[in-house]
Amino acid sequence: MIVVEDLHKHFGGFHAVDGASLEIAEGTITGLIGPNGAGKTTLFNVIAGVLQPTSGRVTMGGEDITGLPPHALFAKGLLRTFQIAHEFSSMTVRENLMMVPGDQSGETLWNAWFRRAAVAEQERELAKKADEVLEFLTIDHLADEKAGNLSGGQKKLLELGRTMMVDARIVFLDEVGAGVNRTLLNTIGDAILRLNKERGYTFCMIEHDMDFIGRLCDPVICMAEGRVLAQGSIDEIKGNEQVIEAYLGT
Ligand code: ADP
Repeated sequence: MIVVEDLHKHFGGFHAVDGASLEIAEGTITGLIGPNGAGKTTLFNVIAGVLQPTSGRVTMGGEDITGLPPHALFAKGLLRTFQIAHEFSSMTVRENLMMVPGDQSGETLWNAWFRRAAVAEQERELAKKADEVLEFLTIDHLADEKAGNLSGGQKKLLELGRTMMVDARIVFLDEVGAGVNRTLLNTIGDAILRLNKERGYTFCMIEHDMDFIGRLCDPVICMAEGRVLAQGSIDEIKGNEQVIEAYLGT
C-alpha cells in the first residue's frame, strides 16, 4: 500500500532519515520501533506530508505521493494522529469529533483543517457519527466532557476517534500507548484491532512498549540511524542481533 524508497531527510548536515526503504502492506498493523533518535518520527512526518523529504520517493497504491501536503493525503485516506490542540480543550469530546476537514489548501497541521460544520443537517449527521465513534471506542460516557479534562489515555482514544470521522485507509499512530495505564492501553489496542479487522484500516505505529507491539503488530520494522535495520515478526525482531546491538548502543 505504501512504499518508501531510499528516503532521506536532512536537517542541515544531520541525516535524520538516511536512505530508509520500507513497505507497508495493505491490511497490516505494521510496528515501527528503534532507539531514540532513529528517525522514526521524522520518517512519519515525511510520509504524512508534514515535512518535505530531502530526496527519495513515497508511493501509495503505486501513485507517487512524495511531498504532498497533509490535506491532499487526507483526501486519499492517509492520516496521522495529532495531539488535541490546546484551543480545543475547552470543547467537549463530541464537539472535537464534529470538527470537519476544511479545504484551506496550504495548511499543514491537522488542527488547522477543521472548522465547525455550519449547516444544521450536517451538524446532526456529524453528531450521530461522533456518537457511533464514541460507542465503538467505549467512551460514549465521555461525550459531553471537556476534552481538556480527559486523562492521557482517553485523549489518545479521542485522537484515534478523529480518524474514524473520515474514510481513513491508512493511519499513522505516533506512540498511542505512551504514558497510558494498562486498562486504557487494552481499550486502545482493542480499538486498533477492531478497526483493522472490521473496517479494513491499515496501521503503521511507532511504539516502545514491546508487549503492546507483540499483541498488535505484524510485521515489525526496526530503524536505527535513519535506516531500516530489520523487519520481521516481533519474535524475529527481538532475536535479531543487529536490533539488540542498536538498542544496547544507546
Ligand atoms: P525518533 O522518533 O526515532 O526518536 P526522530 O525522528 O525524532 O527520531 O529524530 C531523529 C533525529 O533527528 C534526532 O537526532 C533529532 O534530534 C533530529 N531531528 C528531528 N527533528 C529535527 C529538526 N527539526 N531539526 C534538527 N534535528 C532534528
